[in-house]
Amino acid sequence: MRRRTAASIRCASPDLTNLLAREWMLDVPDTKIRTVPGSKFPESRLHIIQDDLLHPILGGNKLRKLDALMPALATAGITDLVTCGGLQSAHTAAVAAVCAERGITAHLLVRGERPAVPTGYHLLARMFGQVTYVSRSEYANRQAMFDKHIARATDVAGPDSKVRALHEGAAEPLALLGLIRLVHYLSEPAALGRGPCDLVTDCGTGVTAIGLALGVALLGLPWRIHGVMLAGTKEYYQQQQKDLTAASLSSFGAGNPSTEDASGGALPLNWRPRVNPRKFGAVLPGDVTTCRQVAQETGILLDPIYSLAAWEVATGMAGATQSRVAMLHNGGMMGLFGLAQRFPDQF
Ligand SMILES: *Cc1c(COP(=O)(O)O)cnc(C)c1O
Repeated sequence: MRRRTAASIRCASPDLTNLLAREWMLDVPDTKIRTVPGSKFPESRLHIIQDDLLHPILGGNKLRKLDALMPALATAGITDLVTCGGLQSAHTAAVAAVCAERGITAHLLVRGERPAVPTGYHLLARMFGQVTYVSRSEYANRQAMFDKHIARATDVAGPDSKVRALHEGAAEPLALLGLIRLVHYLSEPAALGRGPCDLVTDCGTGVTAIGLALGVALLGLPWRIHGVMLAGTKEYYQQQQKDLTAASLSSFGAGNPSTEDASGGALPLNWRPRVNPRKFGAVLPGDVTTCRQVAQETGILLDPIYSLAAWEVATGMAGATQSRVAMLHNGGMMGLFGLAQRFPDQF
């Protein structure tokens, strides 16, 4: 892999050059891009961006969101990080692992009770971080929960500690920079290039899709991001978009016409429903069979909660339109272990 220095980054605007000239967690932004074998999809039209292969167990968008954040935490002298998530949260596991590498203590507030058999992302969270189980009622009031556990962590770590909170899904402007860096990489000729592209991604908090769309706007690419809504209503995702673009405008400054558009919600971003909508976390009959079939026919490992949703939209688009379609594979396969524990008969 080539190591890219700030000086070698080509940017559409001086603002973007400044934005990307920083210390990153990942040595290079590179990722593997492949097409799907077989005659079902025209090879040149469907591209799978295999960010799931970034790391053997923690690959995907969680590392992208931490790409700029972790060096910033080090610069700020943070000793303890408090964050939260559900039982099979890939976010808590990834945060705990990268914090451990850097000598930062990760305090993980996990919704619900300790399972009889910790597995999947939760097992990793328990290995790398300090897990506290939080009742659903306490978890419902996020601010009060954070306040209480920041105070507790400060107490335990002592007067020299510097404790910081990180929202669920890393919903803050610093998390968007790693996605902007990824789009910059993807737009290079050796990756996808600058031609028109429909890029599909599966969404929990929507942070990944918003970061990608911001990158596309900043680079002036003729691309559209399609965020598949899994964990909330369209209103929820539109609010996330409004809040995050406004916050990043004030954090990183404006000065570029396409960023200005972003504040008005004019990002190149479509929020789309799942092909088979359902309550978040539900697995429908046939989902696991489809995942197994895709794994056996293509070597791409999907999970029914997240990446299958992007796969269904991306393959549908690739079959129906002449345009180039790309799917960002955000990882998530450790979630399969938790699902197999809940629905053993399906696997
Ligand atoms: C966490 C996760 C998502 C959701 O990402 P957001 O930035 O919260 O929208 C999507 N897919 C996979 C596989 C994930 O692990």
